[in-house]
Amino acid sequence: MVLPGLPAPLTVHEARLGQNYTSRMAGRTYKTEAIVLRSFRFGEADRVLHLYTLDRGRVGALAKGVRKTRSRFGARLEPLSHTELVLHEGRGELQTVTGVELIRSHHAAREHPYRLGIGMVGAEAMLRLFPEQERNQRAFRALSRFLDLLDDLDTGTAQRPALDPLALSFQLKLLWLSGYLPHLTSCAECGAEDNLAGYSPKAGGALCGACAQGSLPLSPQGLHGIEALLNLPLADAGRAPLGPRAAREALGVVNASHEYHGGFRLRTLAAS
Ligand SMILES: [Zn+2]
Repeated sequence: MVLPGLPAPLTVHEARLGQNYTSRMAGRTYKTEAIVLRSFRFGEADRVLHLYTLDRGRVGALAKGVRKTRSRFGARLEPLSHTELVLHEGRGELQTVTGVELIRSHHAAREHPYRLGIGMVGAEAMLRLFPEQERNQRAFRALSRFLDLLDDLDTGTAQRPALDPLALSFQLKLLWLSGYLPHLTSCAECGAEDNLAGYSPKAGGALCGACAQGSLPLSPQGLHGIEALLNLPLADAGRAPLGPRAAREALGVVNASHEYHGGFRLRTLAAS
């Protein structure tokens, strides 16, 4: 549980010096684009937001009074919302939201359960892979593009959200951006380029049939599908040759990479 970064109560000494609310709010205020990755209730009327910002990377913030009916924030701070925020950085761990402009609501992505499932997988992957307050414009732009595409995603042939080409493409690209995705075009043990049959994050990538013992099995279709997902832009993920088996194998590579490099499994994947 993250503790809120509220200023400490005034000490008697501070009160005597006449240091009032204004001085206790001293700090820095800045404006940045931000995407809400997760939001949870805090107290009677507030929410704690996990944000991915263009200027600072991952930021935790408190939105005060957001749950009141007459809140000035309205419904602009829902998960997946793309906003321009004014944030105040005080002494505490959490920054404070002091202004919100909506850039894209991503209402369409949130309102359909299948699209929402994909969105929550993407949001959790961002939370896990980019946990630092550190600017990463490429990661922010990838997330923003992913959500734009999600709004328009066809849900006609819906299967498991986690196996959707857009979900897999985004996950693989995030692994690549965070430096966790090893190369898949030759055997990581012996260099062979043919007969690749497995994947091992420990070995550093794909393995040929002779070296693949104990690794995650990969079919030629799976390898081909993963390469296509990595090479095609997010917008063209649906064009990757990805049958059900290849999609499952791609998800296996994502999970194995998370487990080996980050020591985690996405909870949203268990649910979807
Ligand atoms: Zn080999």
